[in-house]
Amino acid sequence: PKRRDTIPDLVKEALGGVKSIIAVASGKGGVGKSTSTVNLAYGLAQAGSKVGILDADIYGPSMMQMTKVGKPEETRGQLIVPPQFGGVKIISVGMFTEAKQAQMLRGPMVAQIIRQFLTQIDWGELDYLLIDYPPGTGDIQLTLSQIAPITGAVVVTTPQEVALIDVRKAISMFDTLKVPVLGVVETMSYFICDGCEKKHYIFREGGGRRVAKEHGLPMIGEIPIEPKVAADSDDGKPLVISSPDSIAAKAYLDAAGQV
Ligand code: ADP
Repeated sequence: PKRRDTIPDLVKEALGGVKSIIAVASGKGGVGKSTSTVNLAYGLAQAGSKVGILDADIYGPSMMQMTKVGKPEETRGQLIVPPQFGGVKIISVGMFTEAKQAQMLRGPMVAQIIRQFLTQIDWGELDYLLIDYPPGTGDIQLTLSQIAPITGAVVVTTPQEVALIDVRKAISMFDTLKVPVLGVVETMSYFICDGCEKKHYIFREGGGRRVAKEHGLPMIGEIPIEPKVAADSDDGKPLVISSPDSIAAKAYLDAAGQV
């Protein structure tokens, strides 16, 4: 048999059965990107799609905390079979490195891990693979976008100008890489207090919309601040499954319908 050892061949073998590969990216860290990845993924799965999550947030992998997924235990030939949680296949950097070691990874090792993630996982047939990107626009994001055939990117931001500045850079990176940006998810958009039912715009109002308009992109979602989002996430429960009636879950389910 013919040897298949070039990167594109290996990527094809690992990812050839995936219909859409969606990058979930942000300019800044801590804006709710991983929370968005999880809830968009489970939202899509709930609507009947076959979904996987690749947690490539190499310096802060969070999928093993945000879901109750275990570590991989099976292989198929040369490929690792991704473990599942709630019907979603998940691979995280956190499955392969101790948290403390991950922060010490050097550039070439990081690139190596990213390459392995894109060539050595048996994703099988999927409708969507969501890749949780590390925040920012550095080498890892470039490597990911160059090796993986990304269908489109969702960019996540809070409404504040400091986050918007960096999300504009992320949009421009995807433009340069010719990866279509599917739209903007704004998180921590507002807070509704139980007493008065009023929307409080804690981090200012309308920033996500403004960036979307500037770049001619659709606004995919505006996700409110809700204590349940943080609590369920810390407990390994995807919000759209555990608290589907919360306002944030409804906003995420609606957003998933637009991906
Ligand atoms: P990132 O992936 O951008 O670093 P995370 O998704 O890890 O961000 O979110 C950062 C923190 O904010 C986490 O503790 C998360 O639970 C919390 N968080 C995210 N979105 C919300 C929200 N809509 N309401 C309340 N807390 C949120």
